[in-house]
Amino acid sequence: MLNCDRLQRRKARVNMEGALVARDQVGIQDFVLLDSITSETAFLDNLKKRFNENLIYTYIGTLLVSVNPYKELGIYTKKQMENYMGVNFFELPPHIYALADNAYHTMLTEMNNHFILISGESGAGKTEASKRILQFYAVSCPSTSLLDRARDRMLVSNPVLEAFGNAKTLKNDNSSRFGKYMDIQFNREGEAVGGHILSYLLEKSRVVYQNHGERNFHIFYQLVEGGEEETLRLLGLERNCQHYCYLVNPIFHSIAEVERYLTAGPGCNKSSIPIVMQYLFGIIGSILHLGNVQFENLSAQIASFLVIFHHTHFASCGLQVLSPFSVDHAIYARDALTKALYDRTFTWLVNKINESLENKDSTKKTVIGLLDIYGFEVFYVNSFEQFCINYCNEKLQQLFIQLTLKSEQEEYEAEDIEWEPVQFFNNRIICDLVEQRHSGIISILDEECMRPGEATDLTFLERLEERLGNHPHFVTHRLADQKTRKTMDRGDFRLLHYAGEVTYCVVMHQAKNSIVKHCFPPTEADSKKRPETVATQFKSSLMGLTKILTAKEPWYVRCLKSNEDKQPGRFDHVLVRHQVKYLGLMEHLRVRRAGFAYRRRYEVFLHRYKPLCPATWPHWRGVPADGVERILKHLGYSEDEYKMGRTKIFIRHPRTLFAIEDAYEICK
Ligand code: ADP
Ligand code: MG
Repeated sequence: MLNCDRLQRRKARVNMEGALVARDQVGIQDFVLLDSITSETAFLDNLKKRFNENLIYTYIGTLLVSVNPYKELGIYTKKQMENYMGVNFFELPPHIYALADNAYHTMLTEMNNHFILISGESGAGKTEASKRILQFYAVSCPSTSLLDRARDRMLVSNPVLEAFGNAKTLKNDNSSRFGKYMDIQFNREGEAVGGHILSYLLEKSRVVYQNHGERNFHIFYQLVEGGEEETLRLLGLERNCQHYCYLVNPIFHSIAEVERYLTAGPGCNKSSIPIVMQYLFGIIGSILHLGNVQFENLSAQIASFLVIFHHTHFASCGLQVLSPFSVDHAIYARDALTKALYDRTFTWLVNKINESLENKDSTKKTVIGLLDIYGFEVFYVNSFEQFCINYCNEKLQQLFIQLTLKSEQEEYEAEDIEWEPVQFFNNRIICDLVEQRHSGIISILDEECMRPGEATDLTFLERLEERLGNHPHFVTHRLADQKTRKTMDRGDFRLLHYAGEVTYCVVMHQAKNSIVKHCFPPTEADSKKRPETVATQFKSSLMGLTKILTAKEPWYVRCLKSNEDKQPGRFDHVLVRHQVKYLGLMEHLRVRRAGFAYRRRYEVFLHRYKPLCPATWPHWRGVPADGVERILKHLGYSEDEYKMGRTKIFIRHPRTLFAIEDAYEICK
């Protein structure tokens, strides 16, 4: 039925295709199809030319490059979705829907798992892209009314998670402050039947501290500005953000916030969140109240309740003794409490959403994973969070290199395919610098954290310098002049990331953001087990993610930021060039151009396409490779369009494959 639909739609499109293609005649839609060797300048010119015509998408083979237009383009309508449903990748102008649709159909045909990795720096358009993909599946996948519920829940989980996990930063008004990986599960009929979300390292320090010009998580403002009178009264909250110490940067647009709140609120009905919404608001309210506790004037009465603001220790006689913290300590303990509270609330919310998305039916399902994780980030002051975020980006870049550049070249070698190697920068060295056991930054941090009382930010920095001073990607104060010829503060270290230099502040004036303090594992009174530090936990969760992803087939969306000022339609050449460089797009293009878009084991290819040639139908008795060659010759393909490897057939252009696939559908 699916194929029938597909053919029908294709036929219908033949009439309108002319118009669509005519609209997208600007520049080149797919860099791979350029005949001459492309220079970086030519690459940028093509992107810019298209961007100026509101054509924000361009392909490099099956990789989609997207440039953030910062304005609504009217390209995400239902009509557009319909146009792209069941189309071969290169039939229509590049679009995120084309990629989503092709991942979906490949999954159904091959019955295997896929993931779409959306990357780019903060504000480049990753979250928007992931939302568009989700909406596309919601409209394009077949569904029964029973399944509508699973689909709707998936859609409404988004605004709720954004309310709790997104905030305005200098880079992005709606910046995701957590990493998100979402599996969408499909049954054999291609219906979306369930889902699962994994969240990564919420930036919880934002609850108590925000850089100048930034804000706390949306939910705080939504509650205070947009909450109902009754809710605010019950929680003892005033409708005035200025009243709360944790909401110090009240640069908000209340109407928009209220609207957002409304979409998060009633929509939640479907995912059974409102029942618990009151509890959640209760926690948000408590956090705001705690933030306003002033220790200097704290009344004895309240203080006696707040045991947390006292040290608990055992006197020699065995009695438990409470001694008050200093004001600094008390503030630190309060902030640690609110951060932990918020973090756990967020985890709880994700679990709750997962319960509502769970599909208990045990029939075989395939999945498409959507990865929207924080992009590479450089601020004026970079602390522990930026360190983790940028480390995560190194890992994803490494995965990209392994799955595309490296494995591609290795495969050609293994298959004896003639091939001219392409040079690329392998960021493995930076990943190792951060994560290597015993000698990486995280291990050194762990060691320091195991010496409570003795270790400080400065001793951590000294250890780093001792052990990593010679590393080409690591710089500290003392080494700065020799390596990068730029001075830096005593309390900083600098990493030369694949995407650029970032200076991390270790010794903070505000103790609350100090890296070592941040990483001290929570002391668990009775536990003899050595607790894991936050950095180690993060490292393990990234390893887990890498494992999840490597078991699936990749699709890539590379988002580029067009300018730093969130201005509609402005294309900042220098900024885009920098991203093109560090995202490795030129290398990717070179590998793609020199290589083959498609490869399949001879047996698999033969099995699918044997009806296309009388010599192979219904059975081919010889060696599979010969059968494949017979089919290709019979279809009239010349030898430069494909290559025969040891075990696989390699086809140069996707167009060739799509033509074969079309012939197959028609002959079926
Ligand atoms: P990221 O997740 O990469 O940090 P977002 O997806 O949140 O970035 O995008 C930042 C902002 O840019 C969005 O809030 C939106 O205003 C704008 N934007 C991003 N992608 C698009 C797009 N495809 N069309 C129009 N505006 C976009
Ligand atoms: Mg985002």
